[in-house]
Amino acid sequence: MATVTLDNLRKEFDNGRIVAVDDVSFEVEDGEFVTVVGPSGCGKSTTLRMIAGLESPTSGSIRIGEADVTDVHARHRDVAMVFQNYALYPHKTVRQNMAFGLRMSTDFSKDERNRRVEETAEMMGIEDLLDDKPNELSGGQKQRVALGRAIVREPDLFLFDEPLSNLDAKLRTTMRTEIQRLQNELGITSIYVTHDQEEAMTMGDRLAILKDGILQQVGKPKDVYENPKNAFVGGFVGSPSMNFVEVEATGDGGTVTLSKDGGFDYTLTGDVARRVSESGLQTLRLGVRPEDVTVADTGAGIPTTVDVVEPVGSDNYLHLDVDVDFIARVDSDVEPEVDDTIEITFDQSDVHLFDATTGEALL
Ligand code: ATP
Repeated sequence: MATVTLDNLRKEFDNGRIVAVDDVSFEVEDGEFVTVVGPSGCGKSTTLRMIAGLESPTSGSIRIGEADVTDVHARHRDVAMVFQNYALYPHKTVRQNMAFGLRMSTDFSKDERNRRVEETAEMMGIEDLLDDKPNELSGGQKQRVALGRAIVREPDLFLFDEPLSNLDAKLRTTMRTEIQRLQNELGITSIYVTHDQEEAMTMGDRLAILKDGILQQVGKPKDVYENPKNAFVGGFVGSPSMNFVEVEATGDGGTVTLSKDGGFDYTLTGDVARRVSESGLQTLRLGVRPEDVTVADTGAGIPTTVDVVEPVGSDNYLHLDVDVDFIARVDSDVEPEVDDTIEITFDQSDVHLFDATTGEALL
């Protein structure tokens, strides 16, 4: 049983001048795969390093299963960590690298160590590399060895710190699937740090999003995508990013018009209009995802000018001038010319509204 519970975890550096992790609390269930994601410097690695025992918290606690491990030495936590730079011993063979964690433990006989290393090497498809040294391996092979070394120990918990960042795009996609397959097979609780929202969304059972050391939202990828708690999360998940337009709200409970100087007008009705009215907010940030924007008939939408048409195979990204850059993701057969004026629209159910000052979601 290896749940992981972070309770008000905080880490300060430089006598409190840097707050790397700011009172973060969340729980990872037994067997769950949780990704921790956020921009550079948001505190992802520090959080992971505290769970591993490589960094001690300024305050707060960490439990693995029933045990409070906050003050337990890294060596005594049953945790295996996989790093971005592989961290293999250059003078040891693949076999020795993989067996190293087992040699540190007195629980395994030599035969048992060999059996485990060979079984794991087979699982990872690296059985032919066992006698090679790391400098004879490609990046992908090195990362497989690093994963193998983590798996061979059969830990309670896997921690991954951007393990695929040094691989090329194609290999990264293959390894993503492979890590997921292994994790499914082994059912070991995993926490996976990445700055890549796509990786976080595709790999995680749930994702935890950090910004400036503060936890913004924890949830299933679909829930976070559809119901971001704030504008930062809305803009961070999804590619191309959510479009944002700062608008003024006018009207009463029945209908509310959201306007921006220069011809952007969007009318809300029903429950949504009522909630905007009730909020008393006048300046809002409207968010709409590129895939929710469609080209409307003349007179039925918001007029915009086409800046760039970017074909990406099945779709075209239309970069539009709504005062701010605004992207519509449309079918590849929708091909307006640059400088054309087109009208766009979107369903009210696809509109996200945020408080323009705090960024908090209204809906
Ligand atoms: P990246 O994706 O760039 O690795 P991250 O989200 O993993 O970033 P952390 O490495 O956890 O972020 O760093 C969080 C903050 O803490 C940053 O401002 C960083 O400069 C600072 N920090 C991290 N380690 C130390 C340290 N040992 N001493 C001082 N400041 C540190």
